[in-house]
Amino acid sequence: MATLPQNDNGCGWLNILNKRVHRASLSKDINAKWLIVGAGYSGLAAALTLAENLPNDEIVLIDANAAGEGASARNSGYLVDTTLNDGHLSDTGLKSYQQKYELNKKAADNLKQMVDKYNIICDWNECGKFYASSTFDNELKLNNFIELLDKLNLENQFFNQQDLAAQLGTGFYKMAVKTFGGAMLQPAALARGLIDALPHNVSLYEHTPVVKIKHGDKHIVSCAHGEITADNLIIAVNGFMPSLKIKSDRAFPLLLTASLTRPLTDDEQKHMNEAQEWGVLSANHMGATLRYTSDKRLMIRNTVEVSSSLRLNDHDLKKRKAIHLAGLKVRFPFLADDVIAHSWSGITCISANNANVFDEIYKNCWAIGCYNGGGVGLANLFGQEIAYQALNKSSDVKKLIDARPKPNWLPPQPVLNWGVRLKLAKDKFKATEEV
Ligand SMILES: Cc1cc2nc3c(=O)[nH]c(=O)nc-3n(C[C@H](O)[C@H](O)[C@H](O)COP(=O)(O)OP(=O)(O)OC[C@H]3O[C@@H](n4cnc5c(N)ncnc54)[C@H](O)[C@@H]3O)c2cc1C
Repeated sequence: MATLPQNDNGCGWLNILNKRVHRASLSKDINAKWLIVGAGYSGLAAALTLAENLPNDEIVLIDANAAGEGASARNSGYLVDTTLNDGHLSDTGLKSYQQKYELNKKAADNLKQMVDKYNIICDWNECGKFYASSTFDNELKLNNFIELLDKLNLENQFFNQQDLAAQLGTGFYKMAVKTFGGAMLQPAALARGLIDALPHNVSLYEHTPVVKIKHGDKHIVSCAHGEITADNLIIAVNGFMPSLKIKSDRAFPLLLTASLTRPLTDDEQKHMNEAQEWGVLSANHMGATLRYTSDKRLMIRNTVEVSSSLRLNDHDLKKRKAIHLAGLKVRFPFLADDVIAHSWSGITCISANNANVFDEIYKNCWAIGCYNGGGVGLANLFGQEIAYQALNKSSDVKKLIDARPKPNWLPPQPVLNWGVRLKLAKDKFKATEEV
């Protein structure tokens, strides 16, 4: 039996939106010409694309939970084009970085078009983002990053501690590189906008977990209370691929937690030099991600862990919340102990070599996912592109996807979990000051 996603109720991005009425779950056996499993960004983008290209076909879209309330609502809302690398400045390193950048850039441009096309209000802000460090240990890494960005003519700016304090309202960071592409957004509002854009020929069933899939001429998808016999199947469950026995030797789920504060008071905003919206990613892999939003809230995500059950109980979530609060207080000591209003967990998906899944895994069955922390842009792009693949439509984006490496092999369990835990512990040790 598949490990099923179970969302907690703490997601701040969701809780500050108006409630939406969920669609019914599947309660009988049906046939579907087109079936998409997973209604996060990937599945929603695939459904929108199929539905628009096949206005006379019914597209069935199902999700184990409420649509769009998994990682797609729970992420930190960074739409990234440039990502920090560790300074591979060889020709191959540069070429590989450029390919990754081009794909991310395409994804960012594509998402902007979708947001405009469907009139999605999601606090889109092209304010850039900081890769920051609280110690001088990352000086070489950041300098290499600047060199790489310069070589590729990508706009960037170095900030020292003083300039950062003025911009961010905290003297915590010693140095940072600001990059200017991509955007910051409200992730749950983006997912909600995509759901609202679904046309009448998409039949969405929520709270409909898939427990088993049998592949053949037709794909037999067993759900909790009904079976779907599908001609064409797109699997868009991202971190839950391995629990459906898909790409278990290539893709790995990680559990992340985050918190969002209430809006800061006028006094608290003054302590922060009346700073405007900003986003900070850490120069360390395991360091904290922080945002200061347009409605003057702080968001922090500073834990990542291996979880066999892919969920966190209330007791453990409280412990993670304490780590979030400590991360906020070390940067903003004036904040009160009860400043956090929402805390949540979410599942993301990584591979060993930062590669993504975009494959026809059986005849007329495709899988997409494993965006390695870049899914806000990539999931939407891959969803769209997998629909074109299924429709046999050629596209330039496919060339960019094909140019990227495939995910490397991962060892079987339990060795895999041990290995990832060890790697995370090492990275955490290096980033102790950044949490
Ligand atoms: C805390 C956090 C912070 C992040 N920050 C960022 C960021 O700042 N920028 C960025 O680009 N990315 C970020 N990510 C990653 C990003 O959120 C994901 O890459 C992206 O949401 C993937 O979208 P998706 O639709 O593929 O997957 P998901 O949003 O996970 O959707 C998959 C859906 O499949 C459903 N599902 C799973 N199993 C089953 C089943 N058996 N049957 C039926 N349905 C099933 C789930 O309920 C879920 O709704 C973050 C992720 C987390 C958790």
